[in-house]
Amino acid sequence: MTIFNYGSINIDHVYRVPHLVQPGETLASSSYQALLGGKGANQSVALARAGAKVRHIGRYGENDQWVLERLESFGVDCHLVAATNTPSGHAIIQVDDQAENCIILYAGANHTFQPQELPHLLTEAQKGDWLLLQNECSCTAEMMSLAAQHGLKVAFNPAPMTEAVAQLPLESLSLLVVNEVEVLQLLQLEHFDLSQVTERLTTHYPALAVIVTLGAKGAVWVDQYQVIEVPALPVKAVDTTAAGDTFIGFTLAALSQGRGIQYALELGCKAAALCVQRVGAAQSIPSLEEVLA
Ligand code: ADP
Repeated sequence: MTIFNYGSINIDHVYRVPHLVQPGETLASSSYQALLGGKGANQSVALARAGAKVRHIGRYGENDQWVLERLESFGVDCHLVAATNTPSGHAIIQVDDQAENCIILYAGANHTFQPQELPHLLTEAQKGDWLLLQNECSCTAEMMSLAAQHGLKVAFNPAPMTEAVAQLPLESLSLLVVNEVEVLQLLQLEHFDLSQVTERLTTHYPALAVIVTLGAKGAVWVDQYQVIEVPALPVKAVDTTAAGDTFIGFTLAALSQGRGIQYALELGCKAAALCVQRVGAAQSIPSLEEVLA
């Protein structure tokens, strides 16, 4: 079973600063790093690290060949990733001495997809394969519908969450993966109460399986027939960047290999528990061997 990941590729430009820059101020940074990022790329790395067969569908700016090489170095099949003359998607990230951050995002090449280009990108996909997507590329709605028409199982992680998500053809999905904030926004609820969330999800989206990740509280699977709760591992988190991406990669890898829901959720929580004990995004995602050990 192949997982096609229609996903963002970003470069994270990370600047270490004494304080977040103020209006009108020019501020020297003490360090700079350019890192592979983007929810799409991170999730492809996690899928590959979990042993899944993953093909990334994405775009980057033609001057940033290293981004492609980095993604490939993690074992991601990148032959459906293309260079464009639009700059790569990127994030300008300031991190201050209190570990506070602020971020400017530019979608760049991630937003160059046009609806008429999508069928060509799915020609290799077979009925029963998975398509994973997030909310950082253009044509999200079109890709979702097209993949479902092709007989693919579609998994959607609506991050970053926007008001437009509720209007997407969510009925064409097999799996929705949301964090606590995202599910509350989607259902227009104030507080997380599992029985209320379950009632709303199964009423509004009866055909859908939903995983809600709950940070240090773990994760829960909700569908019409069952609610399966899995606790997080009690670890000391130092950086939760890419925790959700790691969880999704390992959980979906297990599901795509025919593993049961409980096993898949537990594997996702274990992998994410290792991720949060390490600093960084893609480089903090563990291998399957580490997780099983
Ligand atoms: P996101 O990063 O998308 O906001 P969450 O914060 O819900 O997602 O985290 C995803 C998963 O990572 C959780 O379901 C859990 O398994 C794991 N996780 C996150 N924070 C912690 C933590 N402090 N301790 C242990 N596991 C964690």
